[in-house]
Formats: sequence, structure tokens, C-alpha cells
Amino acid sequence: MHKRVAGILLAGGSGTRMGARINKVLLPVAGFPCIARSASALAPFIDHLVLVGKPAEKKELLAAVSPAVRGIRITFASGGATRQESVSQGIKALSAEEKDDITVLIHDGARCLVEGEVIRRVIDSVSAFGTGIAAIPVTDTLRSSEQLSLPAGNIVPREGLWSMQTPQGATLFILREAFRRAEEKGFQGTDDAAVLSFAGFPVYLTMGSRMNLKITTGEDLIMAEALLQHRNMSVCRVGHGYDVHQLAEGRKLILCGLEIPYSRGLLGHSDADVAVHALMDALLGAAALGDIGRHFPDSDEHYRGISSMVLLSHVMKKLREAGYVPVNADITIIAQQPKLAPYIQLMTEKTAAVLNLPQDCVNIKATTTEHLGFEGRMEGISAQAVCLIQPLASPPCP
Ligand code: MG
Repeated sequence: MHKRVAGILLAGGSGTRMGARINKVLLPVAGFPCIARSASALAPFIDHLVLVGKPAEKKELLAAVSPAVRGIRITFASGGATRQESVSQGIKALSAEEKDDITVLIHDGARCLVEGEVIRRVIDSVSAFGTGIAAIPVTDTLRSSEQLSLPAGNIVPREGLWSMQTPQGATLFILREAFRRAEEKGFQGTDDAAVLSFAGFPVYLTMGSRMNLKITTGEDLIMAEALLQHRNMSVCRVGHGYDVHQLAEGRKLILCGLEIPYSRGLLGHSDADVAVHALMDALLGAAALGDIGRHFPDSDEHYRGISSMVLLSHVMKKLREAGYVPVNADITIIAQQPKLAPYIQLMTEKTAAVLNLPQDCVNIKATTTEHLGFEGRMEGISAQAVCLIQPLASPPCP
């Protein structure tokens, strides 16, 4: 049975260490606000999100986060002066609406690279033990020192030492109880695990990840963007499409959305834009979404005479829903006649606009077959397309 999970996302930091004037969680990381990326990482695992931030930034924070967590309840809570007070406000907001046994994940808005496996392990640990804290083993040698340029003190053995990350999770009951006891005794911890320990609850560590860095300085931002680029590159996918239509009298010749002056046109249920059909099959193929016949059956009267550019925009929507956007496309049109060279630029502009790509990411070329085959005999025109798609680098935009 699904156990309800809520997230408390901390967005109250400042940008002082980044040298930025705005809240660092609102700074873009590879084009999208850090806080939107953090929310997007939590989204598949949670049913309710409490966003904790400064009241003055409420509008901006909600605008950044909302598109990333569509369909999930969002509550805004005003943050306190310390992290502990902010979490406490988040717990209060949740307690007003949720049952005691739900799992709560407290997450730093600045840890926007957290991977799904890390979040999953924390949730599993809370289910099994009541608490779960993402942590990684310390790998550097540790030494104590008053300050730089003074003789350093002893080496601190690193065996058994862990660096705390987030998410830090517990049931709502345990969290509320722990924060209540800490407040009563005036205890201030630097993280939620410290509060849990202080209150006498066992803290169970789960394996975090070195990728799960907290963006605090300009250097962190550079590393985060490099890691995101690597993550996106590693899951690019390629697709191929092929299509043929017969040439017939009394039809318009439409290629890549452009009407080409010619004595005949292509026969088909839609406008028979063979080049766009090949392109759509390439895009759908790359995302393993089948082919255009499956999505737009020619038995459906709705698609009679429809512009294939309209169908292409539907394919783009399906691609985005599957979590992908195109990177580039290369289309070859195989036709003995007419000469297509004068129209290539306009065809490229039209296609790039629907693909939402710059023109230098879309290539359209035409070839003849030296009078060989059906294209050479001018019985029909064929087209082939190859494209690359990549995961949405961000939460889906409205
Ligand atoms: Mg076709």
C-alpha cells in the first residue's frame, strides 16, 4: 500500500557566499532555478510539498517551484531565523493537514542534484526504522587546527565518520516530538539529525551520493552545471524515421510545412508531408513511443487533410510528456523532381520553429536517385530522418 510522503523544502537561504544579491536557491543552475530542480527531484516521491521561505520571496519561490510539482499539493510556510526554526514551521504546517504516520523528507533547496535512488533509500529507511538520513563517508584526512598559518593539531581518525546530507527523513510524529523537545530545552542543532539525536531518537544513516552537493559557492555552481551536463549527455537517445508517399494529380506538394510549386502533389490522408512524417517517426522512435500510425491513425477522420506541422506539434507535446526534448534533426528528401534547393531555407525555418530548436540544429537536404527506383521514375517521394533527443534539462515549463 502507498504510504503518504511529504517534503519540506528549505528555500530560505541567502546568496551571501555566492556573492549574489538574490536568494541562492533562485539562481539558475544550467538555465533553471536551483529550487525548481530540487522540487522536481522530490516530485516523483511526494504527495505534499511544504515550501519554507521568506514571506517577501513567496511569490517568486512559488512561481519557480509550481511547474515542477504539478498535481502535488503545495503549502507555503514562512521560514524562521535559523534552519531549525524553518523546519519547525514546516512541521507545523504539515501537522495541520497530515496524519502522524506519514513520512516526511526535509531537503535543502540548494541540493538540486539529488538522485532518485538517494531519496528512495531515505524513504525506505523511514518505513523500516522511523528515521533515515542521507550521508556519505568522509574520504579526506581530517586534522584539527585553530586557523591557517599556525601549526596544525592532531589528525582526527576518519573511520566511522560520515558527512550529513539531505533528504533527512522521519515520520511526522517523530519529527514533531523531536523538535518540540529541542525547543523546550533550547537546543540548536545544525541539521535535523542533530535534533533527532538530542531528543533521543535513533538516527539511521542511508547512503547519500557525492553528486548530491549543496550549492553554496560559485565553485559549487560550476560543478553542478558540469554534473548536469554529464547526466544529460549520458542518456541522449537517437531515432530514425522513413516514409513514402505517391505523387498524384490534383494535390498540393507540401514538404516541411511549405507548399512547393509543382504540377503534382503527394497523396495521403493528411497533407502527406512525407518529410515531416519521417521526422515524427524519428522523434517518436527515439523516445520509444511507437510511430505516427499509432498516435494518428488514418482511419480517424479527425486527421483528414490536417497539416502535418500540427501533428508535429502534437508529437512535441508527447515527447515532453515522456520527459524529452530534441537536440537536432537531419532530414533527407529523396525526389527526382522538383528541384528543392530554393526552398530548403524556408523549410528549415518552419521545421526548427515547431521543434523549438535553433536553425543550426535542423538540417534538411534533398537528393535524386539518378532516375532509379520509384523516386527516379517520379511515382513518389520518400524521406528519411534521424534525430537526437535528450531528457528535459529541467522541470516542464508551463
Ligand atoms: Mg506518411
